[in-house]
Amino acid sequence: MVAPVAILGGGLAGASAALRLARAGIAATLFERQATAHHKVCGEFLSVEAQRDLSAMAFEPLRLGAVPIDRVRIVSGRKSAESALPFTALGISRDVLDEALLDAAAAAGATIRRGVRVTAIEDHGIRTGEGGFPVETLFLATGKHDLRGVARPDARERGAHLGFKMHWRISATQDEELGSAVELVLFDGGYLGIQRVAARVMNFCVLVRRDRFGGSWTGLLEDLARDDHVARRLDGAHELLARPASIAGLPYGYVHRPRDDRKGLFRLGDQAALTAPLTGDGMAIALRSAALAVDCFRSGLAPADYTRLLHREIGGQVRKAMLLHRCVGLPVLPMALGLLGTWPSLLGRLAAATRLPRTEEAA
Ligand SMILES: Cc1cc2nc3c(=O)[nH]c(=O)nc-3n(C[C@H](O)[C@H](O)[C@H](O)COP(=O)(O)OP(=O)(O)OC[C@H]3O[C@@H](n4cnc5c(N)ncnc54)[C@H](O)[C@@H]3O)c2cc1C
Repeated sequence: MVAPVAILGGGLAGASAALRLARAGIAATLFERQATAHHKVCGEFLSVEAQRDLSAMAFEPLRLGAVPIDRVRIVSGRKSAESALPFTALGISRDVLDEALLDAAAAAGATIRRGVRVTAIEDHGIRTGEGGFPVETLFLATGKHDLRGVARPDARERGAHLGFKMHWRISATQDEELGSAVELVLFDGGYLGIQRVAARVMNFCVLVRRDRFGGSWTGLLEDLARDDHVARRLDGAHELLARPASIAGLPYGYVHRPRDDRKGLFRLGDQAALTAPLTGDGMAIALRSAALAVDCFRSGLAPADYTRLLHREIGGQVRKAMLLHRCVGLPVLPMALGLLGTWPSLLGRLAAATRLPRTEEAA
């Protein structure tokens, strides 16, 4: 028998909601369509704000092998700018982090149903491949994937970009050169985020405009490796995944509105707001939204009240990150790198400006 509270999706938003509900003694069932740990398209840059929300759940990513990231480097052709970050972020693989949170939720008493895809939300419950389940309160946390009946409406950015992620085992020389930096490599038609997520493991996350994608991962890699910087990072590297994780057709910049809320349905993470990839703070939004939604639910507030509170916390971050995301495609940006190279502290400030404010700053 399924409890009247259900969580759809076991990513950061869903798993942390399940953990918080379980610790509050509220019976809930989480449905995750993937049967085992899996990779997600993500730059895997865990901001200090996301770390704070994890710490509040007594969850320490460093114990899972996360690596510190305290520098930022932007590269465009032969130009580059570099600065210390005004905070220490972490690099961590999503298959490790999300799975550990799910395990913690299960250990705290949440019921986790793996390999069960929810196909629709109905008037008084949900439908899965295994049949219908009655549900009173839903936490919708299916991330990038929309569900019939509650799909996010089209936003300006939908369909414009494709995203890919690959993990590489890199050479000892490149491991040392990359060190504790996150790198943003700009190219005609997109950008690429590079950082370590474990010793000698480099995450390589590409966002490319659909009209600039030649149709294959191998072709994209060949194009990217024409850049000297990328070629150096890939020198002696081996792909660690059988194929890249990929994603397409996302409505970047989408922020859910309170007037579209339905009774008993709380939207979390990417289903509540889809901030810019790589320049945004998506994992922090996923964790923050779960914490806020569970608090609101426990206090008897309606989903529309929760959505209003969430807007106040994340609206500014999504706007700034989307602005930066659009600027990255402008031809003037490589020129601006000269300026950033002269005043590296500007780069650090730019990185800080796109982070989620602390809870007390948001109010
Ligand atoms: C290219 C790119 C780079 C990014 N880089 C960063 C970064 O460096 N740092 C950062 O903070 N954020 C980054 N993000 C954003 C971040 O990845 C997301 O904001 C975050 O994963 C959202 O978490 P979530 O829990 O809402 O969704 P997800 O992590 O996507 O989890 C959703 C879960 O729901 C499950 N699911 C989906 N449909 C169903 C269904 N019908 N039934 C059951 N289960 C279902 C999925 O299997 C999945 O496990 C990036 C995003 C992109 C696209």
